[in-house]
Amino acid sequence: MSEEANPFDSLQSQIDDVAEYVDVGDDVIERLKHPERVLETNLTVERDDGSLERFTAFRSQFNGDRGPYKGGIRYHPGVTCDEVKALSGWMTYKTAIVDIPLGGGKGGIVVDPTEYSESELERLTRAFAKELAPMIGVDRDVPAPDVNTGQREMNWIKDTYETIENTTEPGVITGKALDSGGSEGRVEATGRSTVIAAREAFDYLGGDISDATVAVQGYGNAGWISAKLVEELGATVVAVSDSSGGIYNEDGLDARDVKAFKNETGSVSEYSEADEALTNDELLSLDVDLLIPAALENAVDAELAEDVEADVISEAANGPLTPGADEVLAEKDCITVPDILANAGGVTVSYFEWVQNRQRFYWSEKRVNEELEAIIVDAFDALTDAYEEHDLETFRQAAYVVSVQRVADAFEEAGTFP
Ligand code: NAD
Repeated sequence: MSEEANPFDSLQSQIDDVAEYVDVGDDVIERLKHPERVLETNLTVERDDGSLERFTAFRSQFNGDRGPYKGGIRYHPGVTCDEVKALSGWMTYKTAIVDIPLGGGKGGIVVDPTEYSESELERLTRAFAKELAPMIGVDRDVPAPDVNTGQREMNWIKDTYETIENTTEPGVITGKALDSGGSEGRVEATGRSTVIAAREAFDYLGGDISDATVAVQGYGNAGWISAKLVEELGATVVAVSDSSGGIYNEDGLDARDVKAFKNETGSVSEYSEADEALTNDELLSLDVDLLIPAALENAVDAELAEDVEADVISEAANGPLTPGADEVLAEKDCITVPDILANAGGVTVSYFEWVQNRQRFYWSEKRVNEELEAIIVDAFDALTDAYEEHDLETFRQAAYVVSVQRVADAFEEAGTFP
C-alpha cells in the first residue's frame, strides 16, 4: 500500500475522466463534483468517570436529485471531512449505477471506538443522532452502518430519532437488526453482488466462473461471503487472507471451514488444511482467474499492479485499487468490475429494507436475493453497453459514464431553484 491520494481529489478526477462521454455541460459536471452540504459538528460526551470529551463529526449530503441521501456512518480516528465528502460522492454514483431511487451521503465521527466503553459509545452515538435529527428522515437522508458501526449503533440512532420526533419510523436508518426492522439477506448482500458481478464479467468475456480459480483478500463480512458464494458456483477458492496474512491450497480451501477456524482462533493464518502461508502482496499477485479484494482501500498500487496476474477483479472493498493501479491493469487487459457496482449489493438491500419499512411488509430472503440479482445484472448490462458504445478503456469509466449521466439527467430535469 502506498500512493495515499486525497479521496476527494480521486472522486473529482474520476468524474473529470468521464465528462467527455456524458451528455451534459461542463457547468453541470462542476456541480456534480461537490456535495450539496456538509455538517461539521462538535459533540460533547460524558465519559464514564464524569469528565467531558469533545468529538468532531461530519455528515455530507452529496446529491439528492435521485432521492433521499443514502450512506453509512463510520467511526474511525482517521475520519476527515474530505474523506466523508468523497465517500458521499461515491454513494451518489453507486446508487445511480444500480438505478435505485436514492442519492448519496456519508457520515463519520473522529473516534477510535476500541478506546471507549459501550455506554460511552451509546452516549456518543445518541449525541450525533440528536445533531443529525433535523437533517435526516425517511424522505430526507437515510444513514446506515459503515466501518466500526453496525446494528447496535443503527438501533441507537433510530431510537433517538423516533424519541425526538415522537414517531415510529424504522426507515430513517438501514442496517438494523431483524427485530428492529432490518431486512433478510442484508448480511450476505455485499458478497452476493460481488460474485454476481464477477459471474457476469466471466460470461461477458466468454468464460465460465465455475471453472475459475479465486483469491480473496480480507475475510470479514464481504470477503468470506464472496468466498462462500463463489464456491457455491463451482469455482475453486485457492487463497484467502486477513490482516494476519494469507493461506494457499492449490486444490481449493473450504470457505465455510476456514470461516469456522477464523471464528475460533481470530485469524485464517494457522488454518491446517493450507499448503502454504502467503503475505497479502503475494496473494494479490497470484496467477488466479478471479481476484476479490475485500479488505481496505489502496490495497493495490501501480507497483504491485505490475505483478497482478488475475484476469478479472471484482472489487468487494471500496477503492482497493489506486488510480495508478487501474492504469497498469487496463494495459494488461485485466478487467476490473468497479466497487460502485460490485459491492452495491449492500446499499441495494438497504434500499429493500427502506422499502419494506415504508410498506410495513417484510419480504422473504428468497425474494430479496432474486430482486438483488435482477438489479445487479441490469446494472452490469448498462455498464457493458456504455463500455462498447464509447469504446472505453475500463469498466470503471463505463460505470461512471452511466451513473454520472443518470445523476446529471435528474439534476437537469429538476431545474434550479430559485
Ligand atoms: P470487515 O471488518 O468485516 O472485514 C475486513 C477484513 O479485512 C477482515 O478480515 C480483516 O482482517 C481484513 N483486513 C484488514 N486489513 C487487511 C490487510 N491489510 N490485508 C488483508 N486483510 C485485511 O469489513 P467488511 O464489511 O467485510 O468490509 C470490507 C470492505 O468492503 C471495506 O472496504 C468496506 O468498505 C467494503 N464494503 C462492505 C460492505 C458491507 O456491507 N459489509 C458494503 C460495501 C462495501
